[in-house]
Order: sequence, then C-alpha cells, then structure tokens
Amino acid sequence: MDVLIDKLVKTRKFHRCFGCNETIPEKTDGIRFTKLANEGRVYSTYTCARCEEWIKNNHGYFEDGEYYRGDIKEAMVESGEWKSVEVGEEAQ
Ligand SMILES: [Zn+2]
Repeated sequence: MDVLIDKLVKTRKFHRCFGCNETIPEKTDGIRFTKLANEGRVYSTYTCARCEEWIKNNHGYFEDGEYYRGDIKEAMVESGEWKSVEVGEEAQ
C-alpha cells in the first residue's frame, strides 16, 4: 500500500469518516485526508478528529496500522469510549 497524500485539510463538503463512518460536516478544520494506492486502486479517506485522537492513543492496535471502514468506531464501542452524539438519543 502506498500513501500518495496524507495531510490535514478543511472539508469543503460532507464526508464520511473512514474510522467511525460518521458524518464530517462541511467546513470542518483539521481533518486528515489520505489518498492511498493499493493493488491498482486508489482510495481517498477522511478521518475525523476523534478517530485521529484514538489512533494516536492506540498505536499498534491494528496490525500493520491497517483497518477498514468503521473499525475504529467498533473498537471504541468495545472499550466503552464511544459516546454517541446523534441527535435524539437519550442519555443513559
Ligand atoms: Zn471518525
């Protein structure tokens, strides 16, 4: 896997975070944009600040640092770190 682009950007439109699959609103600052080439295909991913923080604190959690869409949310849910921010959800 080759990393073509890896930088922090300000989003211009809505994106889905690759780590947690949640919506990243437009005009959000400090979002990591990564472009990867793997077996002849190019992937663009956005990672929200919360996932960035988690990755930093859980270095080595994923073998080779590779993970799939939503994996970070799953890991956070499992460890109890995930706090849903969805509108309408009642606090426990
Ligand atoms: Zn995320």
